[in-house]
Amino acid sequence: MMVRSFTGLAAAPGLAYGAVVLYHARANRPGTSADPATEQARLIRALAETDATIAAHEAALRAAGQSESAAIFGAHRLLLNDPSLRERATILVTELGRAAADAIIAAAEEQALELERLGDAYLSARAADVRAVALQVWRALTGAVGPGQLLVAPSIVVARDLDPADLAGAPRDLLRGIALAAGGITSHASIIARSLGIPAVVGLGDEILTAAASARAIALDGDHGMVTLDPPADLPARLRPRPRERAVRGATPRGPVITRDGRRIRLLANVASPAEARDACAEGAEGIGLLRTEWLFLDRPDLPDEEEQVALYQAVAAAMPDAPITVRTLDIGGDKRLPALPLPREDNPFLGSRGIRVCLSRPEIFLPQLRALLRARATHDIRLMLPMVTTVAEVRRARSLLDQARNQLVASGRPFSPDIPLGVMIEVPAAALNAAHLAPEAAFFSLGTNDLTQYTLACDRGNHRLADLYQPLDPAVLRLIRMACEVAHQHGRPAGICGELSSDPQATTLLIGLGVDELTCAPAALERVRAAITATDTRAARNLAERALAAEDPQQVRAMLRNTL
Ligand code: PEP
Ligand code: MG
Repeated sequence: MMVRSFTGLAAAPGLAYGAVVLYHARANRPGTSADPATEQARLIRALAETDATIAAHEAALRAAGQSESAAIFGAHRLLLNDPSLRERATILVTELGRAAADAIIAAAEEQALELERLGDAYLSARAADVRAVALQVWRALTGAVGPGQLLVAPSIVVARDLDPADLAGAPRDLLRGIALAAGGITSHASIIARSLGIPAVVGLGDEILTAAASARAIALDGDHGMVTLDPPADLPARLRPRPRERAVRGATPRGPVITRDGRRIRLLANVASPAEARDACAEGAEGIGLLRTEWLFLDRPDLPDEEEQVALYQAVAAAMPDAPITVRTLDIGGDKRLPALPLPREDNPFLGSRGIRVCLSRPEIFLPQLRALLRARATHDIRLMLPMVTTVAEVRRARSLLDQARNQLVASGRPFSPDIPLGVMIEVPAAALNAAHLAPEAAFFSLGTNDLTQYTLACDRGNHRLADLYQPLDPAVLRLIRMACEVAHQHGRPAGICGELSSDPQATTLLIGLGVDELTCAPAALERVRAAITATDTRAARNLAERALAAEDPQQVRAMLRNTL
């Protein structure tokens, strides 16, 4: 076996070692029947069904005069009806006892690899067509399973990309790490890996998928973005993670965090579950600055009803008693999908129905969440925060739905607290630029620098090829941060950061210099960010911020931060 190393982006810290589980989002749905005759019958049915579907597409396009597109489907039908594909799949089923779904994928893969081996661009493109056709047959044969169901031993999942639901639903004792071909540091798979403490390396490129196909074991270093396939025998021992420092050190008491010259900066945590809130509490967080509610709903087929949501919010609040808990309303769309709430396909999902846009168009989903928050507020210091706000009108519409939720609760006679602070996330550049109009409508601003960076720099946060461009320290992003903080203060509102930038202790002084009042960090970063706050002098921080704002690019800013430290 050959040792092969790959470098990607360090997305979630930690060392991991395990068996390789190569996950193809669509190809890893195992067949269900072990009986070859039944499987063969299912295969024939699925082939016929798929052929009929493709034929219908072809006919419709031809009728619409789209002969070029119709021809693509015509070619797909030829591939589907290629006797050698069918024969090979049949042999796999009848002689080797493979499930029909596995057989069609395996037979297509063999053909595709043969075509690719010929080294001709045209034939390589046909290989992709063969795979696409087989996937359609496979779709007709299977129901979905996530990578979690594929794990039988401590493993590292290698995939092109993963849905947050895949991660949230996987058994934690078996899922030791993830290595993704795609993705960036702030793509949602990376964020959820960090919050679940699953070491992750992303942006490894497609080579990892090919290489991992023939590997047995994998070692992963989430601190340095390194992955080694079939590592040397002595490596696993070195990879055993050190016991968590926390176990040795005990809990950090909660208390105000103050700069060297006496300015108080609220140190909060971002969490996605009651368990994480407990961790954050042990790390001395003063409260929760971001509860991503969509992550509470990820691994389930239905949305929790109002009662269940009340219990969930209360459970998070109970994990951090007597502390402010900022609950962000459902933020789906973009790269976040909920099994319970399929959204229509869009060409540009990050610029489409996302966050507050979805909630405003689906009051039947938004209202139960608002009612649940008002009810949880009766017993805990719950605050409400709206994601992806672009216009003032959106906030006003959310407010009027909040009024409606209050009226419904009055009518139902359930106990609730009518006064709930309503904050606005600033993560769309327009919101920062129009902050003066948003501030009167908002109790606080919370800057989502993950999205603010992607929208300011027109740079997909999940695209590893753009990792050099995706820089939250870009002076353009810093300018928007400062602008939003200044406006918030002019209106007597606090402004914080809840994106991943606030978990970077190198950036802490700069952010304080730009005017932030609150930093919402990953629980694992709290200790280092606390140390960075207490070491900061605000006058020096302002000076640093001025210089950073005048910088030409994020590299200059990073160099300044290093020199200052
Ligand atoms: C952000 O965009 O910075 C943010 C905190 O929201 P999310 O990462 O969930 O999009
Ligand atoms: Mg966001």
